[in-house]
Amino acid sequence: MPANILNLPAYTVTNIVETEHDYHINAETKTTSQTCPHCYSDHLVGFVRNEQLVRDLPIHGKRIGIYVDTRRYQCRSCNKTFYERLPDVDGKRMMTSRLVAWLGKQSVKRPFSHLAEEIGISEMTVKNVFNDYINELERTVRFETPQWMGIDEIHIIKKPRCVVSNIENNTIVNVLRDRNKKTVAEYLFRLKGRDLVKCVAIDMWEPYKDAVRDVMPQATIVIDKFHVVRMANDCLEKVRKEIRGSLTDKQRRGLMHDRFILLKRESNLKGLDLITLESWTKNYPALGAAYRAKEDFFAIYDAMTVQEGITQFRDWEASLAPEIKTPSTLSREQLTTGCRRSWRTSIIRLRTLTPSR
Ligand SMILES: [Zn+2]
Repeated sequence: MPANILNLPAYTVTNIVETEHDYHINAETKTTSQTCPHCYSDHLVGFVRNEQLVRDLPIHGKRIGIYVDTRRYQCRSCNKTFYERLPDVDGKRMMTSRLVAWLGKQSVKRPFSHLAEEIGISEMTVKNVFNDYINELERTVRFETPQWMGIDEIHIIKKPRCVVSNIENNTIVNVLRDRNKKTVAEYLFRLKGRDLVKCVAIDMWEPYKDAVRDVMPQATIVIDKFHVVRMANDCLEKVRKEIRGSLTDKQRRGLMHDRFILLKRESNLKGLDLITLESWTKNYPALGAAYRAKEDFFAIYDAMTVQEGITQFRDWEASLAPEIKTPSTLSREQLTTGCRRSWRTSIIRLRTLTPSR
């Protein structure tokens, strides 16, 4: 076995004894330059040596005990005695720093008793390291309040929960127990730096909007584009299903793969798809009109300014063909829900405000 088995350059290994479950390693430090911890004098004399047991990470599945021949010094200036500071050893306990670091991470996912057995220490020691590790995390880990905040939801255990995210970093900041206005507003209110939030992207859930308005009035509310344009697809689907419902089996076969083609963006339609769509439009004008309405709705997001987008939205609204407005089950309200009300001015901003990446 090589003398550098410890991979700690500050130590010289003098002896290794291997047993069934353990390596007993004798070592001493190479460095001798020390100062008195009491008066910082370097006028020291060697006193006695003492063996100290330092625990380390397991090697080859065996526990490690390093028996360090530790010098004891006496300070000539203040007469106090002290042990030499052992390099790479944790200041608080007789373990290598790397063992403490590893143990902290392990202690949050494995039983203390297993770790205690594996390292050759008491469960109480593992628990202490665990406590230190958690305190350190709480002290140092800050989920910074994002300037670009996302508020959305996720279903966990059959309930929608509010998810707060950092849009710039693509990270989740927190998950709240529900998505009620009170819960969201209280959470936002406690956020440090909430007055620095510039923009909040939300889905079309009114309580989110209300909570942000109340607590972070300076932030611009933006409806996530995904949730808006999805409605255009939903509306198109309704028209498609309605038309299909009124057809004979034979006619229906003529609409093979209709969903697949209709949900595609126009710019992605090629060759046969284009011809197919054209023939459907001729045979079923409402379907063609619904597709047109969907595409024009998506195109609003190509507007370069808010004003341009609002104008486009109004034109789009006015242009909706009668057959997809009424008397179809698809009402004009359904087609434009979420774009109306106070959302209207926010929709377009997403494009102009979202950081480009
Ligand atoms: Zn001293």
